[in-house]
Amino acid sequence: MKTGIIGAGLVGATAAYALTMRGVGREIVLVDIDHARAEAEADDIRHAVPFSHPLIVRSGEYADLAGSHLVVICAGVSQKPGETRLDLLGRNEAVFRAVIPAVLKAAPDAILLIATNPVDVMTHVATRIACEHGCDPERVLGTGTTLDTARFRSLLARHLGVDSPHVHAYVLGEHGDSEVLTWSLVTVAGMPLADYCRLRGCSVDDEVRARIDDQVRRAAYRIIAGKGSTYYGVGSAIARIAQVILGGQRSVLTVCAPSADIDDIPEVTISLPRLVGGTGVLATMMPPMSPQEKQALHDSAAVVAEAITGLSARS
Ligand code: NAD
Repeated sequence: MKTGIIGAGLVGATAAYALTMRGVGREIVLVDIDHARAEAEADDIRHAVPFSHPLIVRSGEYADLAGSHLVVICAGVSQKPGETRLDLLGRNEAVFRAVIPAVLKAAPDAILLIATNPVDVMTHVATRIACEHGCDPERVLGTGTTLDTARFRSLLARHLGVDSPHVHAYVLGEHGDSEVLTWSLVTVAGMPLADYCRLRGCSVDDEVRARIDDQVRRAAYRIIAGKGSTYYGVGSAIARIAQVILGGQRSVLTVCAPSADIDDIPEVTISLPRLVGGTGVLATMMPPMSPQEKQALHDSAAVVAEAITGLSARS
């Protein structure tokens, strides 16, 4: 199966490398407005193939995406000095208005996975453009809080002294400052967190919660302060989502997609637990949260909705 990646920058190239290391699919095509960059990244990753899985990795044009089952969009422009967030959004929307029709022309049946930030707003934009070109909305999803959920689970798992696959916990809402760590939903070994802690003689008090919350919510800021940008975590999240889609698995992931389940916010795209499979988003779950978490999720959706409204007002 073929995966296309649009935008062979740090995120796109790392996703291609992670797909190669995991052996996801059979072929990867990197497309970038900067052809030399895409070609160099494809060459470099291809040299890792003999040490990993027998994938075909190459650069190409949009026409080379024909037959892709999945196309990951990591193309984006970065903020110029003095530019507002809304101006940046407007320029990234222009990139998507060029990229998405070209992708769907070459690969009309592809599922689109968006990674470009702000990912919730850009997934909303991508869904709108894709639907204008005859694509079902269920075929468009964003990485959303997949990475934040992974960070939450691994930090909590480390504190509890258990491996992270045994900790069920979700980060919902915006992929950003307003995201919601749903502590009330945490289970370990089928037990609510408090019961597990009682049984094991450990504690997750307010101080521990605040520390983990900060480490999840502010992770990207710390990494960007230290090395300029983040790409290994999101590249691995992309590879995991791609594995689910290409393998026709059925996994619950906190990807973002249009959400009609938020009271009095009819048009927004945020992350909720969603059943993802070979055809994209199969179902969305609204878990039973505490009143505070419900309010925080509503507030988070409102932050994303405001950006979507601001963007729509400009066009
Ligand atoms: P980058 O600047 O290294 O790469 C962006 C690439 O997009 C460049 O190679 C550029 O040439 C290409 N591009 C720009 N316009 C294009 C167009 N019209 N057609 C084709 N290619 C085009 O940036 P990066 O670090 O790889 O980040 C990419 C995006 O991913 C950013 O929006 C970033 O904020 C986002 N990101 C998302 C997450 C997440 O969790 N979703 C995490 C980290 C970064």
